[in-house]
Parts: sequence; C-alpha cells; structure tokens
Amino acid sequence: MNVKENAEKIKNTIENTCASVERDPEDVTVIAVTKYVSTERAEEAIDAGIVNLGENRKEGFLEKQREIGNKATWHFIGSLQSRKVKDVIEHIDVLHSLDRKSLAKEINKRAETSISCFVQVNISGEESKHGINPGDVHAFIKMLKDYPKINVVGLMTMAPHVEDEEKTRGIFRKLRALRDEIKNEGWPHAPCEFLSMGMSNDYTIALEEGATHIRLGTSLVGNETTGGESS
Ligand SMILES: *Cc1c(COP(=O)(O)O)cnc(C)c1O
Repeated sequence: MNVKENAEKIKNTIENTCASVERDPEDVTVIAVTKYVSTERAEEAIDAGIVNLGENRKEGFLEKQREIGNKATWHFIGSLQSRKVKDVIEHIDVLHSLDRKSLAKEINKRAETSISCFVQVNISGEESKHGINPGDVHAFIKMLKDYPKINVVGLMTMAPHVEDEEKTRGIFRKLRALRDEIKNEGWPHAPCEFLSMGMSNDYTIALEEGATHIRLGTSLVGNETTGGESS
C-alpha cells in the first residue's frame, strides 16, 4: 500500500481508538519513522499530511533533513552519543531519548536555543533497552534544572515485543503514572505534558493509555524487509 493509504487507515484507527476512550484525536501527534526508507518515501508521508518525521541515527537524520528541510518537524528518536550532539543538535526539534546526565550536559553546552526533550524511561527493565530506571526519574529530572537548554516536554518508552497485550498495557500505564507525578511537581524546566509511546505493533494500546506521540515506521512508510512497501 502507498503511504497515503496507510496514513488514512492509521488516521481512522486513531479516531476510533480515541473515541473509545473519550480522547480528542487532535491531541495525538503521529511521527513517521523513516529510518528504514528512502527520502522519497519520507516525502510521501509529508504529502499525506504527516509532517513529523523521526530518525534514530545521525547519518539518516542529517541526510533526510538536508533534502527535506523545514517542511517537516524533526524528531530524533534513537540513542544519541554525546560526541555526535554537536553535529545534530541544531537540526533537532524534539529529542525523544534523553537518558543520561552527560548527554544533558553536552546538549546544554552545544545548543543555541532550548531543546524540547522527552526523558526516555526503561519501564520494562530489559537490559537491552536504553532509558532511566523508573525509580531514578524524579531525581534525574530535578537535576536537569541545572541545564537551562533542556526543556522536559514529556516521557518516552519502548515496550518490548510480547504477545501479552496486558503486559504492554502495564508498561504504558506505568509511564503515564510517572508522567502525572512529574507534571504535578510543577518544575518550570519540566512541564512534562506528553507521552511518547506506541509503535506499529502496539500503538492502539498506547493511545488507550494516553499516548500523545506515537512513532510509526513499518505500518506507515514500511521497513527494510518490505522494501519500503508497508505490510
Ligand atoms: C524504529 C523505531 C520505531 C518504529 O518502529 P515500527 O515498529 O516500525 O513502527 C519507533 N520508535 C523507535 C525508538 C524506533 O527506533
């Protein structure tokens, strides 16, 4: 299917899911994750009205950014090495993977303006996942007040691929509860309004649990095994 058809299908799913839990679909931002696909394919997403694009590696991010420019809002969704910050930070509108103090420090040093950041949390506790441990999130965010270029707009997590929907739901619920706690703390540098959670295989569950930013690759623009064609 082409990106436009996928986008329409996804839009319907978002509307139906939001209706079922009495949410406003306008509160949901769809990020087209273009890491598997060509710049042309990413342009198709923009033509279909999806103007938020996400990349997880420096090279792909800069390449697409160079070719597409300010027609899109640019999300960096992958783990970011501190030494690469200087190359990308001016091009990032939203960072989804703030997960350590050294990264905050480097961003603060290199960025010219305030950067919207999601703090990545490792709710599932899997060794392979990046992110702050849930128990350390409060202290981490409090500490970030020392880095005035960091604006914590929300929390982000990745749920493991599991069959059990209730497990996935439990992970999203925990992130939401943590978001509510941080938001209630009322830190000026951490309004923490948003929840970046949900990918192609679990985004309806994420929406039911309050996701405001869903990150869709495979179901929207396709992936490498489908050669850019979506399943
Ligand atoms: C690749 C990726 C996605 C999109 O994955 P799909 O399953 O293809 O939708 C979302 N978030 C992050 C952080 C990713 O790396």
